[in-house]
Amino acid sequence: EAKETGRGCAIIYHPDLDRQREKIAALESELRRALQKDEIQPVFQPLASAASGDITGVEALARWRRAEGAIGPDAFIPLAEKCGLIDILGLQMLRKSIVASKAWAPLSLSVNVSPIQLCNLNFAGDVLAVLEEEGFDPSRLTLEITEAVLMSNPEQARRSITALKSAGIRFALDDFGAGYASIGTLREFGFDRMKIDRSLVQAMDDGSTGRNVLTATISLAMALGIPVTAEGIESADQADALRVAGCDQLQGYLVGRPMGRDELVSWLASSIAA
Ligand code: C2E
Ligand code: MG
Ligand code: MG
Ligand code: MG
Repeated sequence: EAKETGRGCAIIYHPDLDRQREKIAALESELRRALQKDEIQPVFQPLASAASGDITGVEALARWRRAEGAIGPDAFIPLAEKCGLIDILGLQMLRKSIVASKAWAPLSLSVNVSPIQLCNLNFAGDVLAVLEEEGFDPSRLTLEITEAVLMSNPEQARRSITALKSAGIRFALDDFGAGYASIGTLREFGFDRMKIDRSLVQAMDDGSTGRNVLTATISLAMALGIPVTAEGIESADQADALRVAGCDQLQGYLVGRPMGRDELVSWLASSIAA
């Protein structure tokens, strides 16, 4: 009874492709197990006020504690997106980050959101339900999204953003300058903050052109009344230039590395004491 593959259906055999597919399939089921076993955990990187140096918030970054060797989020997030696990992973990250952030209230919390999540019809409702369940003030939360969202499904993205913004959640446009997002994008989607990509910050060190581009970018955002965070700051020289250019928030190894919950709690205590 069971239908067979049609006789005329030729399947061309590619051993390399097969092996690659097997590897990806194995990694996918490993990721699925990792999620069930709670092996994906957030670490937290401090965000500093450019003016005072005070820590005003943290960004949650996903880490996969994997026995067979580390895989970074740049690799496993796209994998989760491809195999339909990003919604679960993203909500888990949100909940874990919110729970941990109770230890350092009232600092703000930034959580990265995949474009795929944002375009899910349930996304806004799911986020609000987690905030409600955990008793977390929506105005402490910023969701960071990259421009990719604006390409794939702008209408649904806009609906999710509008619903969450009216609940008090803020939005940051992540990795600005790394792709094609324009200043107009900031206004169009109602972003509350722009995050300048690390590559632009590093380009400052290459000479005056890099610095001019960065300064002009920050000026444009400021002209729209949108505050700017610079990411990937590693030197005091970069921090000074960014502060002068009008950046109001600094992020990078110079300020602090991403840390686990307990490590961050003691780091915060010692940085306040200092
Ligand atoms: P992102 O959101 O732009 O995060 C900033 C990245 O820069 C992080 O890499 C951080 O560790 C790194 N970084 C911060 N300061 C410095 C510095 O001074 N120097 C250098 N060289 N690097 C610095 P990470 O943790 O590997 O994350 C990479 C990307 O993966 C993130 O970029 C974000 O797009 C994505 N990601 C991470 N966690 C999540 C998540 O929970 N959900 C989603 N959808 N994406 C995530
Ligand atoms: Mg981010
Ligand atoms: Mg970024
Ligand atoms: Mg980035």
